[in-house]
Order: sequence, then C-alpha cells, then structure tokens
Amino acid sequence: MAPLPADALPPPPQQAPATPQQEMAALEAQARTIEQELQALRARIAQRGRSPQQATMVAVVDAERCVGCGACQRVCPAGAITVAQVAKVDGAKCTACGQCEAECPRGAIALHDV
Ligand code: SF4
Ligand code: SF4
Repeated sequence: MAPLPADALPPPPQQAPATPQQEMAALEAQARTIEQELQALRARIAQRGRSPQQATMVAVVDAERCVGCGACQRVCPAGAITVAQVAKVDGAKCTACGQCEAECPRGAIALHDV
C-alpha cells in the first residue's frame, strides 16, 4: 500500500503556550492531588498497623470542652478529623493512633472503646 502524502494527514493539535500563572495553578493542583494520595496511603498504612487493642477503639470528642482550635486535625495522620465549631471524628477512618489525644490542649478528645 502506498504511503499517504504528508498533506493528507491532520495537523498536530495546537496548544497555546501556558502562562506562568497557569503553570503555577497546574503545579499547585498536582501538589494537592499528591498530598491527598499521600494522606490516603498513610491512613492505609496506619490501618494495617493497628494492634488488636486499637482495633476496638476510636477517638471521641467532648464537644463541651472542644474549642475548635484544629490542633487534632493537623496531627491526625488518617485525615479522620474535621473541625467546624468543634472537632468531629470519622470513626471509619480513625486508626486509634492517639496523636489527637496527645495534642489537644483542652483534653477534649480521647480514645474510647467502640
Ligand atoms: S486517634 Fe485521633 S489522630 Fe489518630 S487516627 Fe484517630 S482521630 Fe486521627
Ligand atoms: S485539639 Fe482539642 S480543642 Fe482543639 S479542635 Fe481538637 S478536640 Fe477540639
């Protein structure tokens, strides 16, 4: 079969050159994705490493004491804590590592049996 003449092929797609701001936005979006994947991996690692005792425990917030400072959320390796007015724990994600309990300045979050 004879090769097609070059002008019979469609032209390669044209891409506008990215501005520095577009490049920066794309890099930041990439970094956010990587951070989310990293957090998910850390949660899986922590889940695998749970001791039999930890498997029966979960962090619980005392809403009367919590001042919503976010310290527990920042240290939680499982991404299990969200903070609005007060902290809230997603029990399905919590690996009972105890880091939030150690960090809380108000003694407002602690591990409890499930
Ligand atoms: S114990 Fe606290 S820091 Fe650890 S995974 Fe559970 S909520 Fe996060
Ligand atoms: S560290 Fe303690 S006071 Fe601060 S948001 Fe968490 S539970 Fe509430």
